[in-house]
Amino acid sequence: MSAALAGIELYRKLARDGLFADVYQTRSSFIVAASDAECALLETHATALTSVGVGIERLAGERLRQRYPVLSPNARLAIEVQDEGHAIGYKIVHRLLTAAGVIVERASTVDRLLVDHDGYVRGVATEKGVVLADAVIIAAGNGSARLLGLDGVLRPRKGQLLVTERAPALNAAMPGAIMSGRYLLSKGSQAGDLATRSRGFGLVIDPLGTGQFLIGGTREDSDAGQSNDLAAVSRILADAVSLVPGLAGVRLLRAFAGVRTAVADGLPLVGALPGLRNAYLATGFEGDGICLGPVAGRAIAQLACAKHPAFDITAFDPGRFAGIGVAA
Ligand SMILES: Cc1cc2nc3c(=O)[nH]c(=O)nc-3n(C[C@H](O)[C@H](O)[C@H](O)COP(=O)(O)OP(=O)(O)OC[C@H]3O[C@@H](n4cnc5c(N)ncnc54)[C@H](O)[C@@H]3O)c2cc1C
Repeated sequence: MSAALAGIELYRKLARDGLFADVYQTRSSFIVAASDAECALLETHATALTSVGVGIERLAGERLRQRYPVLSPNARLAIEVQDEGHAIGYKIVHRLLTAAGVIVERASTVDRLLVDHDGYVRGVATEKGVVLADAVIIAAGNGSARLLGLDGVLRPRKGQLLVTERAPALNAAMPGAIMSGRYLLSKGSQAGDLATRSRGFGLVIDPLGTGQFLIGGTREDSDAGQSNDLAAVSRILADAVSLVPGLAGVRLLRAFAGVRTAVADGLPLVGALPGLRNAYLATGFEGDGICLGPVAGRAIAQLACAKHPAFDITAFDPGRFAGIGVAA
C-alpha cells in the first residue's frame, strides 16, 4: 500500500512538472460489491485505505445510483477511492525513455552476466556480443528467472483483456474505472486469496479517453501471452454486462493477453543483488508495474549511484530469497 501511494505521488509530481502532463489523469476508482462476500471484503479494504490516509467515500442505495448511474441494480455497495490515477503503460515508458535520451538495443537478448571472482559484474553477454557496464540492472520481467535461476521464486501470470469500440455517451457517464470486489481477491492482496487457483477472474471496466472501454481480465498460471480463449472472453463480457448493462450494445473490437511477473510471496523484487557488488534487480511487479515502475526505477537508479533510495524498498529486498544473486 505504501509503495502504491509513493508510486501515485511520483506520477502526480511528474504530471505537475510537465513530463506526464498529458499522459496521466487523476480520477476516482470505484470498487463495487455485488454479493455478501464482496461487501464484507470492501468494508475491510475501505478500513485499510482509510488507515493510510486515502480519501474514500462509501456509496450505497440512492447515493450510489446518483454517483454512478450506469451501474446495474446488482451493484449493492461501492467504495469510491479518490485521487487515483490513470495512465497507459507504453505511453509512460515511451515518455521516460525519450526524456532520458537512452539508446534501447531491441531484440538483443542477454544470455548471462559477466561476473568477476570478487562479485564485480563487468557487464552482460548478449546474442550480439558483450556490453560492458559500471552497473547492471536486471529488469527483465519473467526473463529474470533464467538469468538468475529464480524458477521457484518468479511465476508467469497471464491476463486476458478486451477493448471495445467507442461509446462516448456511456463512457462520459462513467466517473471512473470500476473494479469488482472479486478483482481484489484475484489480485491476491486480501486474506482468502485466490492466487493459488490456476485461473481467476476479476472484473475491471476502464473508460478510456478515446471513448472506448478496456475490460479485463484473468489471472492465470500460464506464460501463453499471445493467446485468448473464448471461454475467458465470454465470461469477462458477461461479468461486465451484469455490472454495466449498457455495455451489451457496445461491440468488442479486440482481445489480447499479456503476462505479469508474480513473486512467490506476493511482493516485488527491488534492490541490490546479494553477493554482487554492482548488480540490481527490479521485477516481480505482477499487476502493479505501471503504478510502481517509475518509483521503483528511481529507487534503483539511486541505489546504483550509491545514493539512499527516496522511498523505502526494504520489504522488496531480493535477499529475502536464498540463492538470489548467483548469476547463471
Ligand atoms: C492483463 C494485464 C493487466 C495489467 N494491469 C495493470 C494495471 O492496471 N496497473 C498496473 O500498475 N500494472 C498492470 N499490469 C502490470 C504491468 O503491465 C507489469 O507489472 C509491467 O509491465 C512490468 O514491467 P517490467 O518492465 O517489470 O516487465 P516487462 O514488462 O515484462 O518487461 C520485461 C522486458 O524484459 C525483456 N527481457 C526478458 N528477458 C530478457 C533477456 N534475457 N535479455 C533482454 N531482455 C529481456 C522482455 O522482452 C521485456 O521487454 C498489468 C499486466 C497485465 C498482463
